[in-house]
Amino acid sequence: MIDREGPVYVISPRVGPCPNWQRDGCAVYDDRPRECRLFPFTLFVRKGGEGVVSLGYHCDTRCPMKGRLAMPKAEVVRLVAEFGQDAFGDRTEVRAERLFERLRRRAVALAYRAAGVLRVLRGRRTRPT
Ligand code: SF4
Repeated sequence: MIDREGPVYVISPRVGPCPNWQRDGCAVYDDRPRECRLFPFTLFVRKGGEGVVSLGYHCDTRCPMKGRLAMPKAEVVRLVAEFGQDAFGDRTEVRAERLFERLRRRAVALAYRAAGVLRVLRGRRTRPT
């Protein structure tokens, strides 16, 4: 599924794998989106002050390959800044995720997972036998 959020296109696997994934791999590998080039880093957009868009990044995936795939920090910042320039223009800043932001993100993810488990459990309870 591809959504547009302002100037940003979001490719999401909500209804299946990435539409660019083919039997023998990524069909657009040389021109893959910046988000894919960044992996195992993930980029996110924060509200900045006074019209500035603040871009953050983290490397919090459970991918077992992340140690081998990770690139130098300068390259991560360059790719994130390039994204910010293309999507939002000059008024962007880039910084790594802070500890409290990481904790908050993990808490939100945990809450989503717990809500999913509860939905499943409720479904089992109400299912006719
Ligand atoms: S590298 Fe990116 S564009 Fe290519 S298949 Fe994977 S998610 Fe899709």
